[in-house]
Amino acid sequence: MAKVKGDILIDIEKCKGCELCVVACPQDSLEASRKINNKGYHYIVKIEDNCTGCMNCALVCPEGIIKVYRKVDKKKVHLATISNVSKDINITVSE
Ligand code: SF4
Ligand code: SF4
Repeated sequence: MAKVKGDILIDIEKCKGCELCVVACPQDSLEASRKINNKGYHYIVKIEDNCTGCMNCALVCPEGIIKVYRKVDKKKVHLATISNVSKDINITVSE
């Protein structure tokens, strides 16, 4: 199966620090920063590089300030080899 890698970009100056995105992230990728933005809110930062691009954070953000990116690895992955079909069937599955 192709690996999906995601990434996000938050417009931190527009963040209100509600943390809805933090709660919505199934990967626990987000956290409130100790620093504050120009409006005085603790804006959100990415703390883990494990985003899958699921879009949960962007969907719950009331400010609409999270952009989500996805990159799919389109490399062919060897899954299995089937041989000797006329006699016995040998199946080798790659790890
Ligand atoms: S896109 Fe999904 S995995 Fe990535 S930060 Fe947002 S909620 Fe978390
Ligand atoms: S949901 Fe939006 S406004 Fe709320 S903390 Fe996350 S990025 Fe900021």
